[in-house]
Amino acid sequence: MVDITDIPVEGYERVRRAIDPKSGLHAIISVHNTVLGPALGGMRLWPYASEQEALTDVLRLSSGMTYKAACAGLNLGGGKSVIIGDPSMKSEAFFEAMGDFVESFGGQYITAEDVNTKVEDMDIINRRTKHVTGLAGKSGNPSPKTAWGVFLGLKATLEDVYGSDSVEGKTVAIEGAGSVGKVYAELIAKEGGKVIVADIKQEAAEDLAKITGGQVVHPDAIRSVECDVYAPCALGGSINDETLPLLNCKAICGAANNQLLDARHGELLRDRGIRYAPDYVVNAAGLINVYDEMQPGGYKEDRAMANMELIRENMRKIFAIADEEGIPTATAADRFAERRIEAVRSGVESA
Ligand code: NAD
Repeated sequence: MVDITDIPVEGYERVRRAIDPKSGLHAIISVHNTVLGPALGGMRLWPYASEQEALTDVLRLSSGMTYKAACAGLNLGGGKSVIIGDPSMKSEAFFEAMGDFVESFGGQYITAEDVNTKVEDMDIINRRTKHVTGLAGKSGNPSPKTAWGVFLGLKATLEDVYGSDSVEGKTVAIEGAGSVGKVYAELIAKEGGKVIVADIKQEAAEDLAKITGGQVVHPDAIRSVECDVYAPCALGGSINDETLPLLNCKAICGAANNQLLDARHGELLRDRGIRYAPDYVVNAAGLINVYDEMQPGGYKEDRAMANMELIRENMRKIFAIADEEGIPTATAADRFAERRIEAVRSGVESA
């Protein structure tokens, strides 16, 4: 029996923890906001040092999902789940318990895969709840689509910084040669861009460098390497007080969620003249893809891909808001999202 308890958090609609001693599950689901629709967000499995650390992460990630969906023009709210533990803990009982936990939200939270969870795991969760997306045979693995969306964001960023969206001859420093980073690097290389890559798994970095004709650097060096664009594609918080002075790039455009450790780092990037493509705007394509499963007639890849073009368009609008209002691009993205949520909340627009 999964033991589920509420964790009251101001500003969040519902946050709950689940503990299942039998399967070893210890997880938190956070539903931040459902003004635009049910809260959809991935399920992350990570060896957090404490429940507090996991809670901090899930709160940040779930509010990020609210903003991501709002910016992407989707009728979805923001939610996320985190499981405290090592990927070696995975078992059928473990994911069935997690399925019961998702089901306890009665459709207010819809899950999907994320770091360390896969399509197969979602299929097990589906035995206990229908509130799961990204199943085999439907929209499938979101990572290649996410990479495509980040690539569209890169084009908008290059256009803004250099006056041309051409990737040819541009150097992109990719931190994290995982599911998204790998495909993103391949897209860059295919269009004549140069790739510098780092991963804590040395072999993954070396393999990617081989495929793309790129260069490998140590994970400690990727943030200070000279490049046009630094692309965080590992975990969040990589732009912080320590790394910010080291950055040797003109722009930042990567897939990782919550790249700025703190909102003030957006301001500091602006002061340094580094154009930041807000993470949740450029990494929304996986969400756009999975959202298409809920549309009339079920998932259609062509329609999902066409909707991803909005990322490029939104980036142009966000850069314009930042310049017109004299604010960092991250703040401009927040305003862009908040204006849509407020328009729906007040009835000016329908979701
Ligand atoms: P992944 O686990 O497949 O890849 C992450 C890679 O980063 C791994 O290879 C890992 O070894 C590496 N890594 C971890 N810490 C590192 C460090 N300090 N330095 C260098 N490399 C490091 O994950 P993914 O699916 O590719 O997602 C990457 C990021 O993008 C995550 O932050 C995720 O939340 C975000 N994101 C992913 C998707 C998606 O569709 N997969 C969608 C939106 C956002």
